[in-house]
Amino acid sequence: MVKDDFSYESVKDIFTAFLKKKKMRKTPERYAILEKIYQTEMHFDAETLCNVMQNEYRVSLATVYNTIELLLDCSLIVKHPFGGQTAKFEKTFGKQTHHHLICSKCGAVKEFTDKKIRTMLKTKTFATFETTHYSLYIYGICNKCKPSNKRKDKMLLV
Ligand SMILES: [Zn+2]
Ligand SMILES: [Zn+2]
Repeated sequence: MVKDDFSYESVKDIFTAFLKKKKMRKTPERYAILEKIYQTEMHFDAETLCNVMQNEYRVSLATVYNTIELLLDCSLIVKHPFGGQTAKFEKTFGKQTHHHLICSKCGAVKEFTDKKIRTMLKTKTFATFETTHYSLYIYGICNKCKPSNKRKDKMLLV
């Protein structure tokens, strides 16, 4: 599945087809949540999303959680393994495949893209498995948390 040719209409169609299949109601709240998520370029968590939503709509945190579950189910969003106690999500369409650098100390997340990885994985096929999307998580220490940098700071203060 190529996710680069993206239109918000096609995302809505996927959600509509999914709700129909599950025999679930196509409530305006669910679509409003979907739309807000697709206007967001950042990683988000349920509570923050709910707060943003509540500026414009009457939605409960339960509805936000519930809709997030549905969107995960039809692969319109992904859940990231970083963020600690608070689960972080991100839209899957309309954003170039990217990877994440995660600082094991402060939890900071940086995104990056890599042409070589993309080309390599585009040509990688599996006989009994169909790839839909992928993401790499690289763990390490960010610049701010590097001990050597801290020492330098101290020396400057002396
Ligand atoms: Zn850090
Ligand atoms: Zn990301």
